[in-house]
Amino acid sequence: MNRWPLYPLTVRMTVLASGSRGNATVVAAAGTAVLVDAGLSCREILRRMAATGEDPAQLNAILITHEHLDHVAGLSVLARKLKIPVFFTEATHRAWVRMLTPQRRMTYKAWLEKMQREREAMEAGIEATPSEADAEPCEEAPKKVCPTALPALEFFEAGRSFRIGNLEVCPFTIPHDAADPCGFVFYAPGESIRMAVATDLGYVPPNVKLALKNVDVLLLESNHDLEMLKDGPYPWSVKQRVLSRVGHLSNAAAAEFLMRDYDGGAHTIVLGHLSEQNNLPELAKLAAEQAIGDRMSLLGNRVLLAQQDLALEPIQL
Ligand SMILES: [Zn+2]
Ligand SMILES: [Zn+2]
Repeated sequence: MNRWPLYPLTVRMTVLASGSRGNATVVAAAGTAVLVDAGLSCREILRRMAATGEDPAQLNAILITHEHLDHVAGLSVLARKLKIPVFFTEATHRAWVRMLTPQRRMTYKAWLEKMQREREAMEAGIEATPSEADAEPCEEAPKKVCPTALPALEFFEAGRSFRIGNLEVCPFTIPHDAADPCGFVFYAPGESIRMAVATDLGYVPPNVKLALKNVDVLLLESNHDLEMLKDGPYPWSVKQRVLSRVGHLSNAAAAEFLMRDYDGGAHTIVLGHLSEQNNLPELAKLAAEQAIGDRMSLLGNRVLLAQQDLALEPIQL
């Protein structure tokens, strides 16, 4: 028996994992359920779904925010196992295919740069793109399943809402160093509850502020503490990347959003994609709670911390 009984028609968000070693979140409403990102192995996603009472057979689709490995690591295997469609933007799909398809020709300069990037990513433990050895070549090994083969492929565009079952999905562009990264707002038409996922963004631009109005459950990035990042172990180039306008949202930037732009109406705010090297859960939570200030109450603005190695209890409304 599950610790948290799930009610089939509840509106809920279950954060299975969040962070640079893997992201996956179930969003469900009105009998439709989708998985946002599949950045853990298929086995681990299924294990965490079982632990939280989420039924994989009830998933209608997988939605991908962007092609970084911590968002797609288990994607193909999971989609094929569950036989469900995967929704990408066209540019994200193209980047994902390119990432998994071995490059036959590469200049030495490009190779050196690639090696340097991989070394830095390995040192930093963040978002490495897989090496060629990780990718199964499609042509050379016809008996193997091509790593980019999916049961069904659907494209969406940022700024254009679309429907999956009973769930309305509103994708919005986020500033991040990927091909065409997106966040999502979800709601079931006829119900007033809205849920949003907004991680992997360098800052909060006006379109994101607008998208995050009137949300009831918000998964918001709170990646790093600025001082910890500056004094931390990352190589300079990686620090620059994280800090950039297309990097990751700091505790301070998340707090600024919560203080100045957030309307205070959420039931729960989940802080996610916390860096393991450059953040402490207490710092992220404190910054967010101080920013929300006296808007916190028994009725709303509960602040939770998403975890890397453990699924959160489903947030049900
Ligand atoms: Zn990420
Ligand atoms: Zn990313």
